[in-house]
This record gives sequence, C-alpha cells and structure tokens, in this order.
Amino acid sequence: MRIGIDLGGTKIEAIVLESDGIEVARFRVNSPKGSYSKTLDSIADLVASIDPDPNQATPVGIGIPGTVSPATGLVKNANSTWLIGHPIDRDLSERLARPVRVANDANCFAISEATDGAGMDVSVVFGVILGTGVGGGIAVNRQVITGANAIAGEWGHTPLPWMTAEEYPGAGCYCGRPGCIETFIAGPAFEAAFARTTGKEMSARDITEAAKTGDSTAEAALQRYEDQLARALTVLINIVDPDIIVLGGGLSNIERLYDNLPERIAEHAFSDKIETPVVRAVHGDSGGVRGAAWLWPDTP
Ligand SMILES: [Zn+2]
Repeated sequence: MRIGIDLGGTKIEAIVLESDGIEVARFRVNSPKGSYSKTLDSIADLVASIDPDPNQATPVGIGIPGTVSPATGLVKNANSTWLIGHPIDRDLSERLARPVRVANDANCFAISEATDGAGMDVSVVFGVILGTGVGGGIAVNRQVITGANAIAGEWGHTPLPWMTAEEYPGAGCYCGRPGCIETFIAGPAFEAAFARTTGKEMSARDITEAAKTGDSTAEAALQRYEDQLARALTVLINIVDPDIIVLGGGLSNIERLYDNLPERIAEHAFSDKIETPVVRAVHGDSGGVRGAAWLWPDTP
C-alpha cells in the first residue's frame, strides 16, 4: 500500500493504492489558501483519515504545484505561493512520522501514465497538462526525470517556437518572461486569444462546440491553437523524442487534437516522418494523485 496526495490550489486529494494499481480509498478536502501551516494540518488530517494501517507507517507521495529545489531543499516555482521557501518534504515526514516523497504535479501525471496508463508499454513518456497552466513531465522506464535543477519537463516556460509576427513577442508570463508557451496554450490563454480576435467571451468548451457546428471564428481559433501546440510539442520531440505524448488537463478533452496534432507536428519536426502518438490520459483527473502514490513503486 502507498498513499498518494495531490496538493492542488483549490483541493487536496488523497488516495490509497495497492501494488496492482487498485484504488482502495479516496478522500478530498478544500485547500486552505494562503497558509503553509494549515496546509500541513490538512494533509496530516487527510493521512490520518485514509491511513490503511496506523501501525505500518504507510509511505506517502505528494504532488505539488511547484518543486523542491535541489540547491536549497525548499519549495520553489509554486503558484500556491504560500508553499514557497518551505522544506515541505522534511516537514511532512516529521509531522506524519513516515517516509514522504515530493514531486512536481506534472511529473506525477507523467509517472501515472507511464506506470499503468497510456504509456505503460513504452519507455519514454512525455506527459503534458493543458489546464489553467501548462505543465510537463518526462518519465523514462516509469521513473521521472527530475533534473539537476528539478525543472525537467517545464516546457511551458520556454518561448513559443516559430512565432509569427502577429504572435511576437507574446504576453508577459507570471514567471517574468514574455512569450512563454503557457501564455499561448493554457486554457485561459486560449480563451483570451479568442476574445481578442472576435470580441466574444467564450469558454474553451463552448468554442470547441461552436466549431463543430461550423462557426468559422471558432474553427480558426482552434486551428491556431493546434498549430501553436504542435510547434511547442515539436521542439520537445526534436530534443527528447519520446515514445508517446500523453495529454491531460481540461483542454485534453478537445477530441480533434488527437486527429490533427500529428500532422501539424510533422510539418515542423526535423524528421521525414513523425510516428509519435499523441493520446489522451487514461486516468483523467486522477493522474496527479495516482502518480503521487507511484512515487513509491516498490512498496509491497
Ligand atoms: Zn513563463
């Protein structure tokens, strides 16, 4: 047994997973916003309520919206900013009196899909979360690549490749740089671009539905989105050349992406042919919490 926890900006979810990936318990609470100590309290309460055997010190894996810096041992890059600067792995291990492993939430997503999801039969998996932000994680043989600076896979904060004159230099990103991939292909960015070009405020879901009924502005917005996402993925393919790309997050529900992305990637990639499958996550919204549990793959 292992306990997985997904520490999100609005909710904290916990599950207990058996070695065969069967989920035996799940529980969620709202995230206490703005307080690190209350976040630790909530996690401790969750673990106490879901603990399969209080005498066993069942190990805990936690996915966080950020990462623990190898240089300082403290959380960095978290959009739940109250976590920044704290040694969350050490604090929780002490508090819970058991071993705790912490990883970036997109990395947990990649581990989940590599372990028993869409990438379980291949070696190198790139997991992408297309949500309110854009995250990425690289798993090789079911192990996540963390990197020397714990930023491997953070492709959302690199510039959009082959920017058009119209796109250049791109909007300012919360990370302090202009033109990040996230500022083009995250859900809010897609909706903002649609509003800018059409004067209409619509959700990503409604834009997708409108395109299905032949709305030409919605169709144009989706074609632009697919091209931007394809350009972004192409650079990743040129560098890592993963065996599969798995999409998660709200925008991964846009079905046409899976038909259209491979062809668009082929237009940009440094290869005569592109065989990389782009597929939807098998575990849906549970990828983060399952991957957190799989931070303990060898626990009985
Ligand atoms: Zn950025």
